[in-house]
Amino acid sequence: MKLTFLGAAGEVTGSSYLVETDSLRFLVDCGMFQGGRDTERKNRARFAFDPRALDFVLLTHAHIDHSGLLPRLAAEGFSGPIYATAATCDLLAVMLRDSAHIQEKEVEWARASQLHRREADRTPLYTLAQAERALRQLKSVKYDAEIHPQSTVRCRYRDAGHILGSAIIETWISDDGRATKIVFSGDIGQPMRPLVHDPTPIAQADVLLVESTYGNRLHKSLPDTLKELEHAITDTLKRKGGNVIIPAFAVGRTQDLLYLLADLHRQGQLPEMDIYVDSPMATQATAITLRHAALLDREASTLLAWLQKNHAGPRIRFVQDVEESIALHRVKSGAVIISASGMCDAGRIKHHLRHNLARPECTVLITGFQAAGTLGRRIVDGAKEVHIFGIPVPVRADVYTIGGLSAHADREGLLGWLGHFGKAPRHTFVVHGERETSEIFAAAVRERLGWREATVPAPLSSVSL
Ligand SMILES: [Zn+2]
Repeated sequence: MKLTFLGAAGEVTGSSYLVETDSLRFLVDCGMFQGGRDTERKNRARFAFDPRALDFVLLTHAHIDHSGLLPRLAAEGFSGPIYATAATCDLLAVMLRDSAHIQEKEVEWARASQLHRREADRTPLYTLAQAERALRQLKSVKYDAEIHPQSTVRCRYRDAGHILGSAIIETWISDDGRATKIVFSGDIGQPMRPLVHDPTPIAQADVLLVESTYGNRLHKSLPDTLKELEHAITDTLKRKGGNVIIPAFAVGRTQDLLYLLADLHRQGQLPEMDIYVDSPMATQATAITLRHAALLDREASTLLAWLQKNHAGPRIRFVQDVEESIALHRVKSGAVIISASGMCDAGRIKHHLRHNLARPECTVLITGFQAAGTLGRRIVDGAKEVHIFGIPVPVRADVYTIGGLSAHADREGLLGWLGHFGKAPRHTFVVHGERETSEIFAAAVRERLGWREATVPAPLSSVSL
């Protein structure tokens, strides 16, 4: 049996692993590369296998760095089933369509732009029609139930506690009369996070692939994070009399924030306020989250039941159209505006920043990772002035960075999850982290757990198992 690391080896994005035996060939994840210099080339590179010869795909969760190349895979001839949890299937319907829309728009923009004449022949990485085709190949699976995609393999999806629908995938593969259990961690959540359950403990694996996004650091605790959130909002709305602007990823972070704000409101910790969710994708993702409320953790279920019973809660408004979004620009105080994109480089958040960033009575709350080169990063780094739509805007609002809301386990969270294994897997491959971070985490696994076989695979390398 052969395992090939097609992506997320020594880097965070492009998750994809190929498993091959004499009678079987499948992928776990088919993610897009994002945010590096070389991404365009990597996303367009020929697949290292024939998509027509794949039997099926197992998908850990909906994030684009795990799912974003599925439309290309289908367009190039893969016609088999893509297995994912029901919540992941619902989120993908929103996310892959949005991703295709972005691909199409980028090419349109390049064609229209005088500066990018050379790009004029470009075709989109994939189209909306190709995304629709991939969506039709989705097959939903239940957590904890065994599936048999083929006679020599069975699998089980376990809750990974990362985002709604996220899974750790256990696979049992027979090859040459020998059974091997490979566990794919997917992205692992931090224990005690809002909304989702803690990651499911797994007791045994022959071969393990474990993520390491934050394998070299520790997150701030949730109680400390809540204190910061409460202070930033109360100070802005009560003392300064302005607005709070929160850039947030539409899927995951927006729902986390709504839950935390509603919970703080229930405890009487927040002043009167109007919360606006101004992102069509965030609105859809919130509806999907409520549709799958049975997957939420006990605290979230308790809050939802309380809100329903008491008909109470903060005033939350899901902004519908562009006119309503523009009308928000005239609101000078008392509003908490949650909008995308999470890194402020696109979408309606840019308009809200343009109208509030220069006002000292307002506050910008940063709740997620800001990549180098984005508007969000410049604000976090303390720029005195930024350009939005080509217009210089002085930064006079307070800027708070709230650290503890990451959807990924930190070093102790990951080591804690690994600690549930009864004994060391034969091989542990540390993936889904910047190379240096993965190396540091692999060393921690070797030292703290005594798993001497923990290593970081090279991109595109294969191992025979
Ligand atoms: Zn993820």
